[in-house]
Amino acid sequence: MVSRVIPVEDFDLVIFGGTGDLARRKILPGLFRRYCSGQMPKDARIIGAARSEFDHDGYRTFVREAIEEFGGVDKAGCTELDSFLNQLFYTPINAKGVEGWDTLKSLMRGNVVQAFYFSVAPSLFGDLAERLHDNKIATPDSRIVVEKPFGRDLESAKELNATLREHFDETQIYRIDHYLGKETVQNLMAVRFGNILFEPLWNNKYVDHIQITVAETVSVGGRGAYYDKSGAMRDMVQNHLMQLLCLIAMEPPSQFEPDAVRDEKLKVIRALEPVEPHHIVRGQYDATPDEQSYRDDAGDPKSFTESFVAMKTHIANWRWAGVPFYMRTGKKMRARSSEIIVVFKDLNHSIFEGDDAGHRNVLTIQLQPNEGMTLDVTIKEPGPGGMRLIDVPLDMSFDEALGPDADDIPEAYERLIMDVIRGNQTLFMRGDEVEAAWAWTDPIIQGWEARRDVPKPYDAYSRGPEDAMALLHRDGRKWRDLSV
Ligand code: NAP
Repeated sequence: MVSRVIPVEDFDLVIFGGTGDLARRKILPGLFRRYCSGQMPKDARIIGAARSEFDHDGYRTFVREAIEEFGGVDKAGCTELDSFLNQLFYTPINAKGVEGWDTLKSLMRGNVVQAFYFSVAPSLFGDLAERLHDNKIATPDSRIVVEKPFGRDLESAKELNATLREHFDETQIYRIDHYLGKETVQNLMAVRFGNILFEPLWNNKYVDHIQITVAETVSVGGRGAYYDKSGAMRDMVQNHLMQLLCLIAMEPPSQFEPDAVRDEKLKVIRALEPVEPHHIVRGQYDATPDEQSYRDDAGDPKSFTESFVAMKTHIANWRWAGVPFYMRTGKKMRARSSEIIVVFKDLNHSIFEGDDAGHRNVLTIQLQPNEGMTLDVTIKEPGPGGMRLIDVPLDMSFDEALGPDADDIPEAYERLIMDVIRGNQTLFMRGDEVEAAWAWTDPIIQGWEARRDVPKPYDAYSRGPEDAMALLHRDGRKWRDLSV
């Protein structure tokens, strides 16, 4: 199979925060991979901007080190690092200051696609938007890319939206949720809407329940103090898990077109039922003999912030009435695994005498550590001995199906940045979606705060608190095991 790389238009991309962690680990190595694949035009410019003092050559050396450290070179198997670096420029700029903007303007060409990546703290978004406007750098066609977190509640998200919209139209604002850039997430839409097989079964008549898991093995580590102001609900559920839920549950859009897709996602969020307090479990990881507890990592021995959350929710519409959606996410769990499983209902009558094993079709959409899908189907166990049934997975993992081309699948950030250049907002969150997601999570968080809800401790590298298991056991179900 030959992968097709379609080059994007010529562009100038300014990375505010071009010296930061995200730029070093993801954005710049990702751009280099797109360069190596032939997708990035040879005249395109990438302009780093931050307070640190660098000249162009100093910044190129900085970026070379980042690409060498974070996988760009080996992974891409590409030797064109020098020519890529020649497309890089830098200007020192303080987002709150008045200097450097003229230099930035002089580095930009004006007649190509213009994008500004705000890879800085959200408190600087407003300053950047204002200065890009006041210094007449941004045009009505410029695009801005903003990182998470987009607010910490509905009110702050509304304020942030209002600030950005003072100078930019909604069609210019690209709110990143990198989960949406994952190949499998888009494949989920291809599988649902590109095949006749699944859509007739995709409803409360045939689906028993759905599980969405984003489990990490890492602690909050050095980000403890920052994370403690947020917690799993704000950091993961309000954005990544809810976006996955939307893609699983949405109605078919009339076209694969940005607003058609985002309208359908918004309807799902608006149809989410409030979560009953007894349908949600929060947790904090305990210490091990060698490692600190969550509270130690957070630097607050009385912290009430959750490093784990599991919940059951429902979508109040015709398609999904009565189907539970279980979601869980946590730090320091048994395995690193992000997956969605769609568990179909039992057969209503089995013709196979003596077979009471409760076979079920299960569609697994795995996002991490490997991307791929499997569908468990029931077949006859091979060999003599009568009609014994077993479940086997039909494997749709990309490595198997695509062979060497699987290595060329762009990582989420690469794909999303190329979508910004193409002007395609399908995989970016619209302002009203983000606000609706906060409108659903806010009452849950406010309830915890009002009740001074104390998270349940759980063993580090486990499946989370026992109560999270009970959440499903009570319904006669169980979580998919987190395989190590
Ligand atoms: P970071 O490592 O702290 O980098 C912040 C960047 O902002 C640096 O380049 C810093 O450079 C620059 N900066 C700070 N104050 C500035 C100012 N007044 N004017 C101009 N530049 C300024 O943060 P990060 O991890 O890269 O995160 C950047 C954004 O991405 C944040 O919104 C974060 O929430 C989001 N994000 C990050 C990750 C991740 O994996 N890192 C993941 C998801 C979302 P100077 O000190 O040189 O000015």
